Amino acid sequence: MDSNTLALIKDSIRVIPDFPKPGINFKDITTLLNNPTAYKALIEHLVERYKSYNLDFIAGIDARGFIFGAALASHLGIGFVPIRKKGKLPYTTVSEKYSLEYGYDEVEVHIDAFAQKESAKVLLIDDLLATGGTASAAARLIERVGAECVEACFIIELAFLNGKEKLDVPIYSVIQEV
Ligand code: AMP
Repeated sequence: MDSNTLALIKDSIRVIPDFPKPGINFKDITTLLNNPTAYKALIEHLVERYKSYNLDFIAGIDARGFIFGAALASHLGIGFVPIRKKGKLPYTTVSEKYSLEYGYDEVEVHIDAFAQKESAKVLLIDDLLATGGTASAAARLIERVGAECVEACFIIELAFLNGKEKLDVPIYSVIQEV
């Protein structure tokens, strides 16, 4: 991606200090989504990167991963699978817990989400990689239901938190905050 396009995407993301709690700089991607030039450039960049990966599915993490993942899946002509927070999916699920600062959270996927294709090649996507807990649980889920997580993709990586060390799959991030 050329530096102008990268700057366009980066500058379209609003930063909200101290949200949802003091000390967190929240990356607000709603301003990227309602900037049609930036959103289109981002999706086109991801299509260009992933069109040669021979992917079978995109799996997006609840909820902002759905926005990027569903658009990308549609452009690539492949299926989209939601990885949701516990209790939201109606059919039989498989779930994975991951630790938070205090306590734990849980993500789930439908047991048959990738069943149309044996050893389906899946790209995992979310808006942001922070500590890596959510994405590593999501990647484990993909493998547990018989698919292969070939890469995890993020619009923003908070590289100073070293989240990628928690992931056993290759990662790609469009923007890295160091
Ligand atoms: P983690 O499991 O620590 O990698 O956290 C990643 C998840 O939390 C992603 O789904 C993000 O959307 C969200 N998240 C964490 N930190 C931020 C942040 N600074 N700004 C926006 N979203 C965040």
